Amino acid sequence: MTPSDLVVVDMNGRKLKGKRQVTSEIGMHLLIYRMRPDVRGIVHAHPRTATGFAAAGMALNQPLVCEVVIGLGLIPLAPYGTPGTPELAATLEPLIPQYDAILMANHGVVTYGPDLQSAYMKMETVEHFAQIALVTHVLGQQKPLACEDLEKLVAARSRYLGVNSAAPMPVYAGMDEDPSDESPIASSKPLRSHANPHRRGTSFQREN
Ligand SMILES: [Zn+2]
Repeated sequence: MTPSDLVVVDMNGRKLKGKRQVTSEIGMHLLIYRMRPDVRGIVHAHPRTATGFAAAGMALNQPLVCEVVIGLGLIPLAPYGTPGTPELAATLEPLIPQYDAILMANHGVVTYGPDLQSAYMKMETVEHFAQIALVTHVLGQQKPLACEDLEKLVAARSRYLGVNSAAPMPVYAGMDEDPSDESPIASSKPLRSHANPHRRGTSFQREN
């Protein structure tokens, strides 16, 4: 891809510049920009392992890796919506205010941040974490971080440059919990909801 492949659109999705067509998923991008004034870069992709979890109906909601907990919290799974239709954006809408990375059922992943580089790195983190989670499934066991360790990671979030995720911590998979009764939307059972006071632009009102 070169700069000449880029298409410039206004906030209504109307093409201003560029020789290619506007993406059919522009509605999703515009919704995120409208709902999250702090966001200035969005990456949407279909990486194979994370999309595999999305196709299996599994959120990435276990606290298995400390830096993922710090950077992204839990990564929920939005229900399926047909690409290129308003249905797709509607499935993401309830999750956008709190999460910086969302799995899209039977489709892919979207990540976003204060610039394109950080959105891209979040996409890399999601796929990296999906591969690690897959390995734990192959090995047949997972040893999630303990509640008290999660508390320390929440406290550490504000010390990491560029980490402003308000996402709740991942679900703690207690020994007595049956992961199969998880709702497809992982936010249904967060350990606790930590709104991060360090996030810029905490109001998520739509622009008129
Ligand atoms: Zn797509």
